Amino acid sequence: MVTESKATAVPAQKASRHIRLTSHAGAPGVPAIHWGAPTAAERAPVIGTTTTRAHRNVIGTHSGSYSVYRALAVAAGALSPEHRADLTNTAPTDVIGPYPQWSQPDTIVGLDPWGAMVADVFATELAAGYDIRPSIAVTKAHVMLPEIATAIAAGRLRPDGHVLLKNGAALVTKAAIEPVWYLPGLAARFGCTEATLRRVLFEETGGMYPELVTRGDLEVFLPPIGGQTVYIFGTPRDLADPTIELTARVHDECNGSDVFGSDICTCRPYLTHAIEECILGAQRGGVGLVAYSRKEGRALGEVTKFLVYNARKRQHGGDTADQYFARTECVAGVQDMRFQELMPDVLHWLGIRKIHRLVSMSNMKFDAIVGSGIEVGERVNLPEQLIPADARVEIDAKMAAGYFTPGPVPDADELRIAKGRGLTP
Ligand SMILES: [Zn+2]
Repeated sequence: MVTESKATAVPAQKASRHIRLTSHAGAPGVPAIHWGAPTAAERAPVIGTTTTRAHRNVIGTHSGSYSVYRALAVAAGALSPEHRADLTNTAPTDVIGPYPQWSQPDTIVGLDPWGAMVADVFATELAAGYDIRPSIAVTKAHVMLPEIATAIAAGRLRPDGHVLLKNGAALVTKAAIEPVWYLPGLAARFGCTEATLRRVLFEETGGMYPELVTRGDLEVFLPPIGGQTVYIFGTPRDLADPTIELTARVHDECNGSDVFGSDICTCRPYLTHAIEECILGAQRGGVGLVAYSRKEGRALGEVTKFLVYNARKRQHGGDTADQYFARTECVAGVQDMRFQELMPDVLHWLGIRKIHRLVSMSNMKFDAIVGSGIEVGERVNLPEQLIPADARVEIDAKMAAGYFTPGPVPDADELRIAKGRGLTP
């Protein structure tokens, strides 16, 4: 036991007199989670609280990677570890579900479908003193992008006062979603045993969550990783109606291009093209969706990504498509760690059964969506004129590797031509 030594200790230190181990069983009566159960009451709430250890029924805690910042705030004395969220007026602006997919245990394993409505469906448990937090929040926004203003000026988009305003703002419903992993389902998706998954998650995070290996009874893990955001153009409930045209893009984060306009890849052009298509689709009476996942640099992280850029541009012969994946593999050990296996979960949360227009060329995303039971109609490629010159290497390499394209696939000779810019101006 650590003894309090200073009378002037800050509250955070007082609160941590005992180290709060979470690696043994909780109090009797704590609701057990039955993943995929047909109703919220039968499924039971996800309780990832750090204030009342005995109430916990999951491994890890809320807020994904931001749980670490929360810990820093507590350590710095800026946040009381006992703080509980006041959920007054935080209810979703739009009700999403419940949909049949929510009660198919294998269909959604990477998020909590009831995560947006905990204040409603778990009101009894909240009143009984359980600290239950939403893992999903749904709100409204206006989004303004220079590419949309350009599309309006060029006459490709017309403000209608409903989907798109005269000032160029598109009206959206957006939802932020934290990862909630059902470990047996996750193991099945990745083709490994649950024991292996638990052990490797424990070991490869430096032993961050001992309960992964000590608490086999806890099947749900709130991992300290980034989540995802969905942007909906049109009426959210229309997403679940397969007779209503759905235009959708699933996009993986690329800070360099998405935010800062780097021209080495096609991420932002594809994202803004998809938003334009979503607005057009919604104006035709359909609905549009962009699902944005925090998987920076193919989930390898931005440091690895920038190292690869240098390796590509300094290699003998210049930046060529035929070495595109090899250079990534040299630095990271793999070509890609995004693993689209979990990506369709968010589509099933929204009740989607058919995507009429999928704005993506990725065969990995297409295969994951179709493999999860969602029908895909047309595949919409990125128009040639939107591909930045320096991104030619990436797009050629991806098309040669199986990306969808209605045009010719570059051959071996084409892939050996250096098309990327060097590092010096
Ligand atoms: Zn990119």
